[in-house]
Amino acid sequence: MSRRIIPLADVSAIPDFSGAAASPSGLVTDTLARPLRDLRISVTDRCNFRCVYCMPREVFDKDYQFLPHAALLSFEEIERLARVFVAHGVEKIRLTGGEPLLRKNIEYLIERLALLRTPDGRPLDLTLTTNGSLLARKARSLRDAGLSRVTVSLDALDDSLFRRMNDADFAVADVLNGIEAAQDAGLTPIKVNMVVKRGTNDQEIVPMARHFKGSGAILRFIEYMDVGASNGWNMSEVLPSAQVVERIDTHFPLEPREAHTAAETAQRWGYRDGGGEIGVISSVTRAFCDSCTRARLSTEGKLYLCLFAVAGHDLRGLIRGGATDEEVATAIARIWQARGDRYSQLRGSASAPSRDDDARRVEMSYIGG
Ligand code: SAM
Ligand code: SF4
Ligand code: SF4
Repeated sequence: MSRRIIPLADVSAIPDFSGAAASPSGLVTDTLARPLRDLRISVTDRCNFRCVYCMPREVFDKDYQFLPHAALLSFEEIERLARVFVAHGVEKIRLTGGEPLLRKNIEYLIERLALLRTPDGRPLDLTLTTNGSLLARKARSLRDAGLSRVTVSLDALDDSLFRRMNDADFAVADVLNGIEAAQDAGLTPIKVNMVVKRGTNDQEIVPMARHFKGSGAILRFIEYMDVGASNGWNMSEVLPSAQVVERIDTHFPLEPREAHTAAETAQRWGYRDGGGEIGVISSVTRAFCDSCTRARLSTEGKLYLCLFAVAGHDLRGLIRGGATDEEVATAIARIWQARGDRYSQLRGSASAPSRDDDARRVEMSYIGG
């Protein structure tokens, strides 16, 4: 199959940032009345895994041009932007990538972000998504720096299947050790994310449920998504979450649980015997755009309003061009106030973005999952 490398440089205009745009409280909502609550920050586009559904080796090979260090937002730039986002209503920041633990001195950034407070004085929910390979070594220092908790990705317990899926020969034991270290360090509650690809790892659903049941970790099953332009996504490889729940329920009876918040992406299911809970994230079969309060800041400082966007707004250019904090705040408010993205709701409908756009979508490793 021929695969294309998509350009990373599509840029949306920065709106006029003179004058004030936000309400006096600073809080902003978009055209669908969705507030700005979550910020995902991609701190590196590099990764030590080559997960087949995210960074396939045919594309992300030794000749692939990752971003040079000078293109990355510095920790000071990230902190400055994060401060503005928090003033606009962000309460939760997730560091991601690529593999965020590959970014040198990430603990320093965490220390800075942990000092931020919401307008009414609360600390942020500060978390990080990792493939777990470096977690055993880093869990304690991450916790000491002020990280609240972690989400760890793990797609199989079967070692040879896991090695095939990460395509970099990492063992399941590395990740399980990382999860244990994170638990010991108090980075809890730990969430474990499994991307389910029908025909590849769906036979691992029940073993994964069995393994994490009663462990305190919350296992979440994610529908394989058509994100990016390089993974050769096909609907036939999506296993609807309803079937995931059915399969687990046959072995370990489940009952639905109430969502913690309206913006929660996962639907919760509890084990009837009290063995904890699982979550299912039905990004494909049950779109949750109506409650999507997430903004994404790419590795090089572009603001994306949707995982499936083809272009981002160049905040790095704005700050390196000398904009004041007020101007940055106004620009971000205006960008959010103009947001109408709801890709998953429109997927497959007549008003869906054109197929031409598909080849231009940014990669998950760049925009942050
Ligand atoms: N490297 C870290 C990790 O794997 O946890 C953080 C970045 S990764 C892009 C974030 C999450 O996106 C992971 O849980 C990964 O499994 C998920 N992901 C990547 N590509 C995906 C796809 N096509 N569909 C669904 N989830 C995907
Ligand atoms: Fe790396 Fe995470 Fe993508 Fe896997 S899912 S290739 S670990 S960024
Ligand atoms: Fe949010 Fe876009 Fe995903 Fe919808 S498709 S939930 S708007 S990121």
